[in-house]
Amino acid sequence: MAFTLPELGYSYDALEPHFDARTMEIHHSKHHAAYTTNLNNAITNTALEGQSIEEILKNLDMSNNAVRNNGGGFYNHNLFWEILHPENKGRLSGALLAAIEESYGDKETFMEKFAAAGMTRFGSGWAWLCVHPGGKVEICSSANQDNPLMPGIGCGGTPILGLDVWEHAYYLHFQNRRADYIAAFWNVLNWNVVEKKYESLK
Ligand code: MN
Repeated sequence: MAFTLPELGYSYDALEPHFDARTMEIHHSKHHAAYTTNLNNAITNTALEGQSIEEILKNLDMSNNAVRNNGGGFYNHNLFWEILHPENKGRLSGALLAAIEESYGDKETFMEKFAAAGMTRFGSGWAWLCVHPGGKVEICSSANQDNPLMPGIGCGGTPILGLDVWEHAYYLHFQNRRADYIAAFWNVLNWNVVEKKYESLK
């Protein structure tokens, strides 16, 4: 069964004015679609065919650049679309808030450190909030389409929150202003989904 490009669950213009419709359309229908197609091409008739994307990434041969780049791109964008919502659903609360307070003191400090992870990632990559077994949360970042599920990348936890800091994610609307894009991200985040992921992994 080949991997398929997921539906967004909201329209391309639903995240306006924070994330613009043109960027969302190109990002999903061109970039994410290409990662999906190229991942399928890379695993067809190999031992990886039929495995889940998580299995593929956790056991990845990091010298397999086609699967590393496209498998990472497929997984990362799946997570990204899933945690966005036009109504900025939910609030950071409950067990996830407690874990964030334990690692970072308070929500504001966490948001600053997460933004810094995105800002200091040179070139293209992602900022992550990951969960470790036992429930500890940790911020990290990774280059290109790498992610913390891959061997030796990032903090090695399971991502529950991811922010794409490739220029393709923001350049049309924000040009070089990555900090403004990161600030906009908090306005379209669905905390309910992030919290549900935390509950299932802690
Ligand atoms: Mn992207």
